[in-house]
Amino acid sequence: MSSLRTDDDTWDIATSVGTTAVMVAAARARETERDDALIRDPYAKILVSGAGTGVWERILDPDLSAKIAEVDAEIAAIFEHMGNYQAVRTRYFDQFFADAAAAGIRQIVILASGLDSRAYRLPWPDGTVVYEIDQPKVLEYKAARLAEHGVQPAARRVEVAVDLRHDWPKALREAGFDPTKPTAWLAEGLLMYLPAAAQDRLFELITELSAAGSRVSVETVGVQAEERREQMRERFERIRGMFGFEETVDVAELMYHDPDRADVAEWLEAHGWRATAVTSVAEMRRLDRWVLPEALSGDGGFSQFVTAQK
Ligand code: SAM
Repeated sequence: MSSLRTDDDTWDIATSVGTTAVMVAAARARETERDDALIRDPYAKILVSGAGTGVWERILDPDLSAKIAEVDAEIAAIFEHMGNYQAVRTRYFDQFFADAAAAGIRQIVILASGLDSRAYRLPWPDGTVVYEIDQPKVLEYKAARLAEHGVQPAARRVEVAVDLRHDWPKALREAGFDPTKPTAWLAEGLLMYLPAAAQDRLFELITELSAAGSRVSVETVGVQAEERREQMRERFERIRGMFGFEETVDVAELMYHDPDRADVAEWLEAHGWRATAVTSVAEMRRLDRWVLPEALSGDGGFSQFVTAQK
């Protein structure tokens, strides 16, 4: 169970689950600046620097890794690994959308879109509509911040400001979504913030709303043993103290560590989808971004990237 969550909690970009959108966008901003970048998100930096979390903006500091390494080399490796993970996952889902567009899908739904800038940065074919679902204040922040910087969406972008624990299908339809057309759905960085039952419900609703030919791509939750989470918490605590990150929300405490979550690929296969899954470990190794020392790799519990077609 999550200790910081309630069934009807809400947030903006600078609080609670909202800040996790800033955290992952900061990783994309860092990646974009690498010579060997796997992805390019030219808007991530703008979005992170204006968010006002007081914490995740500091990930933009190019010297941060070196500063952490001076204190704790293993934490520095974990930090680098986490950045690599975000880059690899972003690339996987960018490719998912490129494939969906090539297959003729023009209706896109990004669930829990946070500071995802794909509606602005991917080369969408004419006629594409991108629905973005997230909390009202999160969507509001992104659109306003990018507009301030003269950045326009590259497709028709439609905000669907609704909590995914509420009647989001109704809100989506009211926003113009057409369930008779094939859709490409994305759930990236979302499932860990939903309890197991809400995850099942989410996929039931996606299935109901998906015409034949629809696709869905998902980052699954890698559930790690409580003991390992505790070890990591203690180490990060030390780093937080040293770098003045005390005010950071403990992200692990925002997540639901439900051990009996459905296996997403199996669930989809059992409900009318053809699914393929790749472990994030395999994908990171394939792209030569696995830097975690053996001793820190723990007992598994890593996520998968799943893509399915109906
Ligand atoms: N998908 C984006 C990405 O990968 O950059 C954002 C990921 S961020 C880690 C988690 C996002 O999930 C936040 O933007 C948060 O607002 C959203 N979120 C989590 N639970 C939600 C819910 N119940 N309803 C709507 N949005 C939710």
